Order: sequence, then C-alpha cells, then structure tokens
Amino acid sequence: MNEQSSSSVFTNDNIEKAVPSEWKYKVINKVVFGSPSKLEVCIKVSLYTIAEIEKWIEALEEKTQCSYSIQMTKKTVGEKVLFKRRYHCRVKTNLNKCYPDLKSGFKNAKKCPSKLSITLMHIKKKKYRGKYPPDPEMPCIVDYVITHNHSLNIAAKFRKVTRNVQETMNRLFRVGHSASTVYEILRIDAQINNPNTYEELLVNRSVCPDRNYCHKWFNEYKKEHGTIDVKDKTFVSKRLQEFNIEVNEECGKIEIMDDGFVIVLCPPLFKRVHQYIKSPSEVVFVAAINPADNDGSKAFFLMTHSECGALPLGIIITSSENSELITAGLNTLKVLVGDTMFFGRKEGPQLFLVDDCEAVQMAINTVWPETNILFCSLHILHSLWKYLLCSKNGINKDEPINFFKQFRMIMYADTVDECNQCYSEAMLSAANHPNYLQILEAYWDKRDMWTMSYRNCLLPSDNLKINSLEKMMCLLREPMFHRMRSFNVIQLVDFLLTKFVDFYTLRLLDAANNRLIRDMSRKIPLPPDVKDLEQVNSYLYLVPSIKLPYIRYYVNIEIVACTCLKYTTGYICNHIGWLLTMFLSYQDQIEDHNVREIFQKTATGERFLPEQPYEVFQETEELDPKMKYAEPESKVVEQLIIAGNEVIKLQIVNDEVDPNVSMPMQISNLPYVSGVLVPVVTDEQALEAAENVNQELFGTFSGFLKKSPLLVGPVLQRMLNKTKSLNSVEDFLVACQKFNEDGTPS
Ligand SMILES: [Zn+2]
Ligand SMILES: [Zn+2]
Repeated sequence: MNEQSSSSVFTNDNIEKAVPSEWKYKVINKVVFGSPSKLEVCIKVSLYTIAEIEKWIEALEEKTQCSYSIQMTKKTVGEKVLFKRRYHCRVKTNLNKCYPDLKSGFKNAKKCPSKLSITLMHIKKKKYRGKYPPDPEMPCIVDYVITHNHSLNIAAKFRKVTRNVQETMNRLFRVGHSASTVYEILRIDAQINNPNTYEELLVNRSVCPDRNYCHKWFNEYKKEHGTIDVKDKTFVSKRLQEFNIEVNEECGKIEIMDDGFVIVLCPPLFKRVHQYIKSPSEVVFVAAINPADNDGSKAFFLMTHSECGALPLGIIITSSENSELITAGLNTLKVLVGDTMFFGRKEGPQLFLVDDCEAVQMAINTVWPETNILFCSLHILHSLWKYLLCSKNGINKDEPINFFKQFRMIMYADTVDECNQCYSEAMLSAANHPNYLQILEAYWDKRDMWTMSYRNCLLPSDNLKINSLEKMMCLLREPMFHRMRSFNVIQLVDFLLTKFVDFYTLRLLDAANNRLIRDMSRKIPLPPDVKDLEQVNSYLYLVPSIKLPYIRYYVNIEIVACTCLKYTTGYICNHIGWLLTMFLSYQDQIEDHNVREIFQKTATGERFLPEQPYEVFQETEELDPKMKYAEPESKVVEQLIIAGNEVIKLQIVNDEVDPNVSMPMQISNLPYVSGVLVPVVTDEQALEAAENVNQELFGTFSGFLKKSPLLVGPVLQRMLNKTKSLNSVEDFLVACQKFNEDGTPS
C-alpha cells in the first residue's frame, strides 16, 4: 500500500491498515527488506478453521481494496500443522505496456510483491515438543508482505468479482440477458445508483467485471441451465405476467397478431406521469430504436418534457415498422392508462413530434385524428449527419459539413421566401450527388413538418418553445438510448421494466428533494493535453484526437454527434463527452415547491411529506374507499416528542406488514396521514411505543453524556440546535455523521 516505499520508514499504521481488525491478532515480528523497501510482518491471529481463514482473507481484501489469488494449498494431517495456504496479490503489471523500450529480457509481466502465507497450527492437549509452542488463543500464523508495487486504482482493475455481483448476473441471465447485456447493465446500474462515485466503480472489477469475465460466467451458466430461445415470445409473455402480478395492475401486454406481435409497456411510473404532469397534454415525442434482434423489430418510446428532463409515457415494441401494429399498440396503451392519459386530454396531445417514420404518423392519425404531427427537427439533422458522413455515400472532404450547414439553413430560415432560396442553393451545390439530391427532394416534399418557416403556421400555440424542447430531448435521450442498442426484445423488456423505471424514478426524486439531478450522459473532464478546441459556429466544434493531435474531429453539440470512428460505431465518444462536460448544464435545482411536490407524487405515488413537521398529524383527509391497504413499500410516519416540543419525524419502511395477511382493522378506520395509510393504534399503544423508544434513545445518550460530558455535551447541544431543520431520517443521519466528523475537539 505504501506508495512512497523508497523511504524505509514503516509505522504500525501500515500494519493496522492492512490487517482486518475484527479478529484478534498480534504482531510477532516485522522486517523491512529489498529495494525499494518492503514491509513484511509475521502475525498470529485468532482463526481456528479453514472457513474462518477464508472469511479473514475476504475481510482483508475489502480493507486493502486489493484481491489475492491462491498460489497453493497444502492440506496436512501432520502433527503440528493442520492447514497451509499461500496467496499472492492479483496485480501483474505488464512492463511491456508501461515501458515499450525495455529490452526483451525484461519484458515479462512483473508480479506485485505482496503475498500471504497462512499456517493453521494444531492445538493439542499434550505438551508441545518444540521451540515455539502455538498460542491456543491465536493458533494461525500469517507471514504477510504488506507492500504493493502499484496504486489502488490499478488494484481495482484486478479485483475478484464479488459473490453479490455473481448472483445479480445469474438473475439477469435467468430473465434472458446475455454476457454483453449483463456487462452493460452492471455499468448502467453503477451509474444510476452512484451518480457521484460511479467513475471509480466502472473501473472496479469487483463491481463491474470485464467483458471476458461476463462471457466466462455466462458460458458456465449456459452449461448448467441451457439458453433461451429469443424467438419464443411466450418468454416475454411470462415476464409481463410476472410484472403485472408484482405491481398488482396491468402494466404490460403482448398481443400476437397475424402479421407479427405488439408489446406495450406502461409501468405505474409512466401512468403517474400521464396523470400528474401537464406537459403530456401539450407535446409528446415519439422516438424509435432498433432492438438487437436485427429482424426488423422496432421499439417506440413516447416521452414528454418536464423541468427535470424527459419523462416516459409508454413504450411500444412491434415486430416490424407496420402502422397496423403500431395502431394496435397505441390503442392498448390507451386502455392500460385509462382516462388520465395525456393529463386527461381525450383528443390526444396538442402536438406529436415524431421521427421521419410514415407508419408512426399514420398510426397516430388513426388513433388521435385531431392532434398535430410534426417532425422532430433535431432527429432529422441527426439522420442527415449520419448519412453525409457515411463514406459509402461518396460525399467527401468538406462537402458533408457544408451540405449539413445548408440543410440546417433551410430548416431554420425565418421566412418562407428565405427557406425557398436556401433550398435552391442546397440543390445547386449537391448537383453532383444524385442520391443526396433525391433525399433533399423527399424532405422538401414534407417541408411543412420540419422547416421552421413552414411549420410555424401549423403550431397550435405560441407558448410552446418547441426548438428548445427538441434540443433538451435530444441531449437527454441520446445517452440512455445509446445504452440500449445491444439489447434484444426480451432483454429490452426486462431492462425497461426495471432499470429504465429506476432511472426516471430517481431523477424525479432528485428533483423533488433538491438534489443534483442525475443523468446518463458521459461527462469527462477535458484532459490537459487537449487545449485547442476550435468553435466553428454556434453548434460545431473542432476537437483534436488525443493520440494523433494533427487529426481533428467535428463535434456537433446540437445533435450530440461526432465525426470520429468510435461515434459512428454507436458509442458516445470522448470528444462528445468533453464538450458535454464543458457546455451542458442542467437545471440542477427546482425552486417551485409545487413542481417538486408533483415530482415526488409522480415518482412514488405518495404525497409530498410536508416541510413543517408539526403538520404531520393535523392533516387528515377523507379516505378514498377504493384505496387498498398498505402496499408493501408504503412508509409509516412516526413522530417523536422530545422534551415537550421538539419533534423528530421518522420514516419507517413498513415491511413487516404482509399485505396478503388480512389486517384485522377495517379499512374505513384508517386515518389518512399525508398520503400514507397508518395502521390504527390506540393512543395508549402509541404512547407506550413512544416511551419505549424515548427510553432507549435517551438511555444511550445519557450514558454517553455521563461517560464524557465535556465531549458529548457541546455536540448534543449543537445537534439540538439543528433539530428543527431536520426533516427526514436521512437528514438526521447526515447530521450525526457531520457531528461525528467535526464535532469532536481535535
Ligand atoms: Zn499488489
Ligand atoms: Zn468522437
């Protein structure tokens, strides 16, 4: 661990940091050797069995954040030794990579010097005949070279995959995932759940295993359990049934028709977006992706905008781009959502913004004939960008960028005359490219759906700032959609019902709780050796390649696209990541309390917990008789009365109540407290419970206070000063942690 191993000063701290403290141990000897100097210790530890030794090693790995491999195991029946095993650090630094100029004799991989040799001694009743009798309290002797030759970052890449992660992987394989989608999901999961630390996690093999490992583990799984037939739709059907039972309402449906299948997904979160958020009545975006089956199937996402970005309204997966299938899907979605669809607007939203896909337009027209349909202009720019840059299409040198610029001018022209003028110019310059001319003409035929000058006449209301909405949708959906490219229909359904919903729920909760709203875009700080970013115009930047600085790529920040090879193969490249980091700032806090309350309600289905703790029990409302008793995750609010008037509110997840076991109390007796149903308890019961908690809590506090009044007194005082501003258990815990860190006098 000691990176400055050149200084031969090792302290006891080095040992303490490298040995698990949960087991008793004693240092027998320590030696400093070699150059650069390394520390080796001999310790005895209170371990008695092989299982205990394995646990101890796991703890050691967790503590040092390095993993060890077994080098050899010796089982002995001998008199003195029961068991002997050697471990070495898994890190092998490839000198070849680090120092390519080294002579061939030195090019072998270099092992890390850190290793362990563990000997479990036999404790006998008979007197030990030897020089050093084993210690009956600490019969395990460990020779341990503590010093590593690498940093923790490198060690993270060599970590063993944890058992938890292996179990998660098995679970994903069971619902139809493959090695490569599991690889993606573990990463997405790390990012969704750890917005601040995920970059470290992505390179930590114990949480995010490498592709090789995913394949190896998948092969093992297949050997034991066989594979799933991707074409067999009964598998999806079963998955949907399971989900519907899990959430206790119909949220997913598959229909098999003569010319294919339609899958419609509308989890409870999506339904609440329809119900509580107004924007679905104004604008709905429809975006499509191709699942990895490569059989013509398509997934259509209905999304809307909000103060915290795009929100999903429904997903329709069809076996082909066929307007009848999509129509069937839209009708099913209507049934699944019910009257609250599009914030209650029966005739559909004012406006649908769609990709250039005929089948979708026809289907929308059939289902909601009164709505307006326009093209999402940025999506058109995106497809054009891809077309112009594809070398197959024979448009070379500066032409792609110029053609793109001209096309964009047609789109953004202020007046119809100007727009016509731009179109003629574009046609002239493209004269040598007949294929591109055809594309231009085809777009021109539908100019009222995408050019600002023509389509403005169609817009239902001036208030809708469609341009900025489009931009936001494009930026927000691209990174998430990129991630879904590798999923086939079965995997996509599972992903959408789980991680996709989690992601949007967490975003809504971030916004509701005034936290920084997490996103999936790949933001990477600009490396110091790339300084020369050149802004070409309002949307184009020239970004140099790191490896070959004389090569520069165009990054189009408006449609999140790049001209490099990595981007064209379907990944968000570093060049885009840097620009996103520099220029993309999300609205990170939402001032309006009402908006935040709506987000909270949408995310959880529960009403916002009031900020003033005193209101908790005064707020009672009539109970909706249809309301069912406590869902398993429903929260119970308790309040603690301290010293007469101080109130600490506790949110307790009520997981002890099994909803299937009939509750003895009548539903009509349940008081409705701030959106949460609370089981009825008599006043005496409540008082008694509160007293018990009080006693335990204050017993502990006063115990500490007695022990060291000078230390605990001031800390407790400061904590009490803050109590009024603490509104949740999380706040309370954070406060405790804070006091723990800075409350103690140094
Ligand atoms: Zn090491
Ligand atoms: Zn790039």
